[in-house]
Amino acid sequence: MDYVAPTTIEDAVGALSSTPESRVFAGATDLIPQIRSGRPEPGLLVDLKRIERLTAVTEGANAWTIGAAAPTSLLTEDPGFSNQFPGLSEAAGLIGSDQIQNRSSLGGNLCNASPAADSVPAMLVNEARAVVATAGGTRTVGVGEIATGPGRTSLAPGEFIVEFEVDKPPAHSGDAYLRMTPRTEMDIAVVGVGVRITLDADGNCAEARIAVGAVAPTARRVADAEAALVGQPINDDTLAAVARAASAACDPIDDKRGTIAYRKQVTGVLAKRAVTIAAARAAGEDTENAATTNGAH
Ligand SMILES: Cc1cc2nc3c(=O)[nH]c(=O)nc-3n(C[C@H](O)[C@H](O)[C@H](O)COP(=O)(O)OP(=O)(O)OC[C@H]3O[C@@H](n4cnc5c(N)ncnc54)[C@H](O)[C@@H]3O)c2cc1C
Repeated sequence: MDYVAPTTIEDAVGALSSTPESRVFAGATDLIPQIRSGRPEPGLLVDLKRIERLTAVTEGANAWTIGAAAPTSLLTEDPGFSNQFPGLSEAAGLIGSDQIQNRSSLGGNLCNASPAADSVPAMLVNEARAVVATAGGTRTVGVGEIATGPGRTSLAPGEFIVEFEVDKPPAHSGDAYLRMTPRTEMDIAVVGVGVRITLDADGNCAEARIAVGAVAPTARRVADAEAALVGQPINDDTLAAVARAASAACDPIDDKRGTIAYRKQVTGVLAKRAVTIAAARAAGEDTENAATTNGAH
């Protein structure tokens, strides 16, 4: 294996086009274990962490820009970011341990294309966009268009994600992310649910975005669960409708970490809880770190 650490996007694109069997990486917290467990070694490893734009997290007037290779610890340690996106910050804070979060990136979490990647449902409900470097410049696509199945993405050979753009939420909005793992630490989700709620002046739901992870080949928005809330108060009846729709949207695997029936049931429960937390945040109520106060880790 050869290794290069370009300092510009153009040099990274050039390096990738020079070697067909090349691969980008950021934290390598997925890549190194995969190579050690016998996956084929790429001919050339292209380290993205020396490119300044890819490791920066910046607040603009209307949106945040998150470098695709920025360590996820930047999203948990910046109060400005976590106050506006508590759910996305919580999701980033659930990836592995402190050590992992000092290396792991949103770009790697998305492009590893694990159905259980924690940041993805939280990015989906915030309608994050991915800026993709190509041989001819850049193109911008919705985060939901990147992963196409377990371990597979829509990126063409030589393409990589430069950064994510996330619009600031409107007033009276809140997001939340909850996951369930069989163990309390260092485990991956058997279910993850991201939610963003915007309330109207009467306290009813003006907009709902709900996404589930780990229960289908890719994380996905659940339109029926969202429709059950829009224009409605958030109460036991609407939460029950959300739970039913979220469970019905699951197409999970059955394995030692959770049966199909268990994953469907837990998805409904977490969807209700995450909606309740996001709505409380939208109403300006104080909620502690949701991911660890609701029994779901
Ligand atoms: C002990 C441990 C615990 C973990 N716990 C969790 C967890 O709780 N939740 C969770 O979701 N994950 C977890 N992970 C997995 C991993 O840490 C995350 O998926 C992390 O976000 C990957 O980021 P990275 O920068 O290290 O990716 P890398 O390993 O650098 O890359 C992963 C993949 O994405 C590609 N890639 C990387 N950056 C880009 C880019 N900008 N554009 C295109 N392709 C790119 C690489 O080619 C590679 O295929 C854990 C891993 C370990 C080792």
